[in-house]
Order: sequence, then C-alpha cells, then structure tokens
Amino acid sequence: MVEIRFHNTKTRRRELFRPLDPANVRMYVCGPTVYDRAHLGNARPVLVFDVLYRLLRHVYGAGRVTYVRNFTDVDDKIIARAAETGRAIGGITAETTQWFLDDMAALGALKPDAMPRATDYIPAMLRMIETLIARGHAYAAEGHVLFAVESYPQYGALSGRSVDDMIAGARVEVAPYKRNPMDFVLWKPSTPDQPGWESPWGRGRPGWHIECSAMSYELLGDRFDIHGGGNDLIFPHHENEIAQSCCAHPARKGEECFARYWLHNEMLQVEGKKMSKSLGNFFTVRDLLDQGIPGEVIRFVMLSTHYRKPMDWTAKKAREAESVLRRWRGLAGEMAEARAEGKPPQEVDPGVLEALADDLNTPGALARLHELAGAGNGPALRASAGLLGLLNKGMGGWAGAPRADADVAERIERLLRARAEARAARDFARADRLRDGFAAAGVIVRDTAEGARWELAPGFDPARLEEME
Ligand SMILES: [Zn+2]
Repeated sequence: MVEIRFHNTKTRRRELFRPLDPANVRMYVCGPTVYDRAHLGNARPVLVFDVLYRLLRHVYGAGRVTYVRNFTDVDDKIIARAAETGRAIGGITAETTQWFLDDMAALGALKPDAMPRATDYIPAMLRMIETLIARGHAYAAEGHVLFAVESYPQYGALSGRSVDDMIAGARVEVAPYKRNPMDFVLWKPSTPDQPGWESPWGRGRPGWHIECSAMSYELLGDRFDIHGGGNDLIFPHHENEIAQSCCAHPARKGEECFARYWLHNEMLQVEGKKMSKSLGNFFTVRDLLDQGIPGEVIRFVMLSTHYRKPMDWTAKKAREAESVLRRWRGLAGEMAEARAEGKPPQEVDPGVLEALADDLNTPGALARLHELAGAGNGPALRASAGLLGLLNKGMGGWAGAPRADADVAERIERLLRARAEARAARDFARADRLRDGFAAAGVIVRDTAEGARWELAPGFDPARLEEME
C-alpha cells in the first residue's frame, strides 16, 4: 500500500499516516458560515481537502473513508445579515447553503459523506457542555457558559502559545463574568428576537467552537484521523475544539484524544495582495464563473500551489491553466478513448500518486501530468488527472465547444491568407508548416470550392496559434 505522509500541525513534523481503522478512515473539515457567497479564499480548503479525500479513497477504498464538513448556520454574522436585509434567518442560510454546494460542485468538489448543520445538533452540544461543567472544565455565569482554560493545562499546544502570552496579546474588552480573560463562550443568552433554544442556563445559542466538537463526536466518534481547515482557524477555533473535545472525552491510557493529524492550508492572495473589498480585488467563486472562467480552470490554478504555501491567484495563471487544460483535454479525450478501447482501464501513474502521498504535493503531481502529456500518453493522463479531480467527463463542457473571439478569428484568417500566398508562390514547405501548425493548435481547416473553411476542435489551444505568427 502507498505510504502517505503529512505535515502534522499538532507535532510540527512530517509523519507517516496510520489510520486508526483502515476500514473507516475519518476526516473532519470546518465548513462555511452560511450568510454570503463563498469567496475565492473559501474555495481553497474545499479543493485541498477534496484532493485529500480522493487520495484516501484511492488508497483505502472508496467506501472506507468518511469525510464530514459542517455548515455553521447559527452565528452572529448571520443574525446581522438578517437584521440588515429584513429577511428570515432560515431563508438566508438555506439559500447560501445551496449557493455554496452549487459553486463547489462547479469546481468539481465531491460532496462529503456528511454535511451536518449546526442547528440540527443543538441537543448534542448541550450534552457536551453539561459534561464539561460536570468535569470542572466549564462554568455558568450570567446566562453564559464559559470554558475555563486554566482547567486544561495543554491549552495553547496546537498554536504554540501560552495562556499568559494570549492574554498579553489580546485586545478584547474582557467581560466581567469571565474568570480568565481567555475563557471562551460555549453558550450565550439570546434576546427574544435572536434565534435561541431552551437550555439549563436559559434560552440561548451555542458559541461557534462547540458545534465542531459536538458534531465530530456524533459522526466520527471521540477519536478520528484527520482534522483540516485554513490556518486562520488554528487559533482560537481549533485550539478551542481540542480543549472542549479532550476535556469532554479524555484520552484513554496510551491513546490520543480527538483528532490525530491536523492539516492546515495557507491563505489566498489576488495578484500579490491580500484579497479585500477595500482594495477592489475581492471575488466570489460565482464572480469568476460568471466571467466565463471554467470551474476546472479555477481548480487547476488552486492546485498549482502547495497547500502549505500562500496561493496567489492571478489572471495570467488562469489563462495559462485554460490553455493547458484544453491541450490535455484534447489529448485525453476522444482519441485516448478510442485507443483505450478493449484495453483494461488505465492505472493512476505511480509518479502522480507518489507526489500526492508526499504531503499532498499537488504542484508535483501537476508536473508529472505535464510529462505524461508531453509523452502523448492520453489514457494515463486522464486516469491520473482524475485523482486531482481534473479532466473528469462532467467538467469538460467548457472545453468541448471552444468559441473563437474576434482576435482568434482574425489571426486564423491572416494565417490562412499566408498559407494561400505560400501555395501560390509554390513555397510548399511553408504551406505544410502552416497546415501542421493549425493541426497542432486544434484548428480544423477544410479546403472547399469557396475557399478555406475552419472550425475549432475541442482541444483548441490559442497559445499554439499565437506561436504560428
Ligand atoms: Zn470547526
């Protein structure tokens, strides 16, 4: 079996991955808070962990991996959005959840095995909070329940901070009911116009962190293999998840509590700058799709940077990715299918698998796909690209019928005139070069009685056409 290695945030080391139960490999990834369209940065963890999910399914078997990703559908940002717009909270969260699913499907992300919504797990959260109080790790005060960070000596281990450092670095106003400024909210009171549930501490709603602890426990058990998310979640969210889960369900002797491998992706920038509304470089995934950038192209660009490095989204990368994917689709498409007929299904290339097993080295895997494409190995290219969620049948609609924009049409006409002139001058070498150039670029030329007619083939590559001039 392929050996998978990850950089584990928890140990700060590269480690061999050994699942607790190879017949049920379990992974939890923090999902979106549903009040707005997913921006491009939100897509990064979805795609990174989608490739990990595909890798685990490939190595352990498709039915032997359980991937859970939550929807946070109770949150102060959602309440604020409802107040701004005058809309019902349920309407906002239902609509935004569907947007998220549609946009991520357009990027070729597989659906996780479970997508729990926080509001469906309030009783599980209440049970966990009561356990934490009973074990002396939490206390009720003024309608709130707080986690007592001093009750858990390992608090801060994931992010490598001490509680004293955190207090010194915190610039938040400390609520009078907190025993320690770093104590965090498990439950808080709701006013009558805010969403709330009855609890032993009055009508209220959960804090953000408790939902992931409660839902992962319900769906994956007290111990599971992988916990993922963006590195902006390490502190406080994941630190708090660990404190809650390890205190409510402590490790048995010789075992670890909660998740064993913690994977975090780096952030995303746009054209070298942090994405922000004030800089005018803020995009949602839908914005890019509506501009005509295919989901597969967005996926390719995202995977071209290793997940632990900052990813810089640029328009140039998107253009280049589109050109590569058109070429690959041409190579892996019908011709490969015809050649593969009657042969056993192509295996994933060992080089691609090896790269992904090496801490999810997607740029390394793409480099290997380039080699397969360079060698003209369409069947292997297609089988291996599938492991990265690329060149799948369902996603190729954009590449099937390429459209010629005015520049492309003008260039083709110009090159056809050059070919006619070469023929008239009996320069057959040049005419043949142009014919071969059209074929390589994916321009189908037919000479008719009325002159040359042309159309674009599915693998049309504008860069190759440009090189002909
Ligand atoms: Zn979470």
